[in-house]
Amino acid sequence: MSMRRPVLLLGGTEEARHLQREMLAAGHEVVLSLAGRTRSARQSGARVGGFGGVIPMANAIRRGGFCVLIDATHPFAAIISPNAKRAARMASVPYLRLERPAWTAQEGDHWQNVVSLADAAAAIPPSTRAFLTVGAGGIAPFVQRRDVQFVVRAIEPPHLAGRSDVKVIRARGPFATADERALFQNEAITVLVTKNAGGTATRAKLAAARELGVNVIMIARPPGQPRADAPSVHAMLCLLRQRISLA
Ligand code: NAP
Repeated sequence: MSMRRPVLLLGGTEEARHLQREMLAAGHEVVLSLAGRTRSARQSGARVGGFGGVIPMANAIRRGGFCVLIDATHPFAAIISPNAKRAARMASVPYLRLERPAWTAQEGDHWQNVVSLADAAAAIPPSTRAFLTVGAGGIAPFVQRRDVQFVVRAIEPPHLAGRSDVKVIRARGPFATADERALFQNEAITVLVTKNAGGTATRAKLAAARELGVNVIMIARPPGQPRADAPSVHAMLCLLRQRISLA
């Protein structure tokens, strides 16, 4: 691969931003691509918005003269990664996936593993106060549970389908364990619902839940995703040094 050709980096994660910074610092041309779900994405200077599917993405790769497609999208972004792998193959460029490892339960954890947002919503015991951290776009199945009180934390405002009793906290990680513990206590949280996002920025809530004996409903990652080539920014940079002579 030529080091003179730009890299297309699919983002939407902290890792993607970190990788972009490191690659730019190494003198490489990088085009960061974001879906545009958040205000910060729309103001980021990245290329923003969907490609329109596999074939348009392959055409964009060819048109841009990219030497590699790096997929650093979120583990729960289920459509873009398989599409990206197919588009890279069509455009005859390598596809490299950066995906942080999933969290695993530790001693003292009380996790109930489920496979979907709908299953998570159904698994919440009645008359509980649940802390919901599944992203603003994942709220719909939960707000139908009128027998559960919700505290929702999300970066963007969630659609609450007319539920005026839901408390919303707008925030973006990283979060500290002491703050998470205080939040659980102040809000009298009895159950935590989360996607198994992995990484360090939002894992403090799991430590707080462990300390306080709060039950966790853990939503597994979507099946059928391309396998990870690197579990971290550091590992991806090592791989890129081998593959595209990154300084
Ligand atoms: P998704 O279901 O996999 O993707 C839906 C569509 O959004 C894709 O088909 C694609 O549109 C477009 N898209 C997604 N990521 C893109 C990117 N990096 N650049 C350009 N277009 C992109 O993804 P999602 O779950 O809606 O997530 C959207 C973005 O938010 C992702 O980039 C992801 O990294 C980030 N994110 C997601 C989550 C989550 O829990 N799902 C959490 C944090 C961050 P076209 O088909 O038109 O190309």
